[in-house]
Amino acid sequence: MAEDKRECVKVVIRCRPMSRQEGIDNREKIVDMDIKNGGVRVRRPGTNDYKDFTFDAVYDETAVQSDFYEHTGYAIVESVMDGYNGTIFAYGQTGTGKTHTMVGPAHPEAEEEKGVIPRAFGHVFRNVDVGGNKTFLVRASYMEIYNEEIRDLLSKNPKQKLELKDHPDGGVYVKDLTVMIVKGVRDLQQVMEVGQKNRSVASTLMNNESSRSHSIFTVTVEILEKGLDGQDHVRVGKMNMVDLAGSERQSKTGATGDTLKEATKINMSLSALGNVISALVDAKTSFIPYRDSKLTRLLQDSLGGNTKTVMCTCIGPVDYNYDETMSTLRYAHRAK
Ligand code: ADP
Ligand code: MG
Repeated sequence: MAEDKRECVKVVIRCRPMSRQEGIDNREKIVDMDIKNGGVRVRRPGTNDYKDFTFDAVYDETAVQSDFYEHTGYAIVESVMDGYNGTIFAYGQTGTGKTHTMVGPAHPEAEEEKGVIPRAFGHVFRNVDVGGNKTFLVRASYMEIYNEEIRDLLSKNPKQKLELKDHPDGGVYVKDLTVMIVKGVRDLQQVMEVGQKNRSVASTLMNNESSRSHSIFTVTVEILEKGLDGQDHVRVGKMNMVDLAGSERQSKTGATGDTLKEATKINMSLSALGNVISALVDAKTSFIPYRDSKLTRLLQDSLGGNTKTVMCTCIGPVDYNYDETMSTLRYAHRAK
């Protein structure tokens, strides 16, 4: 049982390269990774004190996007094509590579630079095209959770708040969420671009930064297969790709009033997520506290059970991020 659980929830760490500015400023590199054993060592700046952590896998600055995908998103897409659900999260402080990991650069110069989301698009439709005795219907939706409010990134009115509803027969759904039927990689790419544009429009309209919201891109695959009995059988798999809000503690940056309230809500859903994941990997716990936040309620059917989950935790390599890096790794370790 415990073994199964561990197989379904993977916690991995990715450390981005030192930025040009960090190089110019001659920053001290404090993170070392042991790729073979999944180890991360963080040194307290200016000392020889260090702390070691172990995870399911670690990726250093030499890891390329395709490598990362092969070990994380790939298995999730494969199981989605078999009718299971799965979720990949990017967690970490703002500026550590969450969006780089999930999406890649805004204007990639090469295929290789593409992140998990565009790679998953290609992967899904390679499977669809092979087809065989199956036919597929692929749908996409893109939403954001900001301040415990859900917004549709594909809607003409991105300010509108959507409601999370309970299905009478179990599960939850977002009322009035736009769901697009997609016929190929180009369609998915377009859905993503529309959503990203709306995300920045909404964040300007509402005077906030996208780093404070969670964005969730969902690809749903309906698989139709003729059984030996001559009947059509339908299975549905769903993949959620989540770029989480920055995990930095806002209280330290002098937030007051609304900003502080917002920060508390962000941290609430991040800690609710941490609690859910740590309950999922804990063989002794059967109660999973899904209902503690919108994010975990929404993803309830895609976390735990026979679904696959990857928590990708992003960190920066240098000294001035020491405190945040340590708290990020502690969070990730608890989730393990
Ligand atoms: P976040 O979404 O966590 O705020 P970003 O993904 O925007 O962080 O990354 C911050 C900066 O670091 C960007 O300029 C990005 O291109 C760069 N970066 C992050 N991770 C990597 C990486 N693995 N390789 C190269 N550049 C990276
Ligand atoms: Mg980002």
